[in-house]
Amino acid sequence: MQKKPFMGVEKRPFLIAGPCSAETEGQVLSIAKDLAKQGEISLFRAGIWKPRTRPGSFEGVGSEGLKWLRRVKEETGLKTTVEVANAHHVYEALKFGVDVLWIGARTTVNPFSVQEIADAVRGIDIPVMIKNPINPDLELWLGAIERLEKAGITRIAAIHRGFSHHTKTRYRNIPLWEMPIELIRRRPDLPIIGDNSHICGNRHMLLEVAQQQMDLNFDGLITEVHCNPDEAWSDAKQQITPNQYHELIGKLVLRTKSTNDPQFLETIEALRIRIDEIDQEVLNILGRRMQLADDIGRYKKRNNISILQPERWNEILQTGVEKGRQRDLSPEFVIQLLSSIHQESIRHQTLVMNAKDVPVVS
Ligand code: PEP
Ligand code: MN
Repeated sequence: MQKKPFMGVEKRPFLIAGPCSAETEGQVLSIAKDLAKQGEISLFRAGIWKPRTRPGSFEGVGSEGLKWLRRVKEETGLKTTVEVANAHHVYEALKFGVDVLWIGARTTVNPFSVQEIADAVRGIDIPVMIKNPINPDLELWLGAIERLEKAGITRIAAIHRGFSHHTKTRYRNIPLWEMPIELIRRRPDLPIIGDNSHICGNRHMLLEVAQQQMDLNFDGLITEVHCNPDEAWSDAKQQITPNQYHELIGKLVLRTKSTNDPQFLETIEALRIRIDEIDQEVLNILGRRMQLADDIGRYKKRNNISILQPERWNEILQTGVEKGRQRDLSPEFVIQLLSSIHQESIRHQTLVMNAKDVPVVS
């Protein structure tokens, strides 16, 4: 499906870069000039009002920074984008000629705030980018997009920036790839942009995540770039210099989405047939496994034993992870797969154990 126009997003990848926060006029202009010279980006980002988890951290320079962004436009020709979290931010950004607004992850979670922003931009022809909410709730993300659409905004892009997670992972915000994949399925018309910086939380994984986003057919990237990353006033660990950014973009491999080459189509078709056969086999095996769960349920019922047996479940997980490792399956995948199987097994056992005995009809 054709994507809706968004500032030339079809020129893939659509690149957005700039500091996490605007700190000083000199810092903003130095980064913008370097990025403009490289000629890769279409949009310059800088946070003016910063949502911080704890009070006392740097909360942004405020409207003063908008003058610096106006200078960026005048002196480099780059278009600019800032995060807005309320109507006041919208009015200020518009007053200073900001070209694109973005809604941050902490704002997308709150329909009141999103509606306030939607009402503030009603009747104004400005493109808006909407980050995923911090919690993995696709409806909330889609709902925010719809609020902006209902306010008459036609140029909208989604930004995938990852999700908060209760366990420690190698990411700052776990990507949960199934979320953007489902968003793309539900809204194939919307451009989607990958925020590799906030997913990673460090410099070392930026390329890996950006490449994965490109391989999922994302349309662009938004990346934090700073002239002196280690000294940045916010998100120092994940920022890179303009030169490092140039290198990163140079290393990205861009693959075409599809082809009509008959040789390719024939080969891929043959491989897909084999995959379909294996998926069928997996489902058959799972069906048989659940019949065994039914037997176990009946047996436990007869002996009045409860369904959940934590030691047994622990043992299944541990051996599964080890066996998975030997077969090149990641522990995350094995745990997710076995948890789903276990839940389905519990559902089967629950049905068997609580089934009303069929009354005997004489
Ligand atoms: C940001 O882009 O600097 C930012 C605050 O991001 P997020 O809303 O993804 O936390
Ligand atoms: Mn940041």
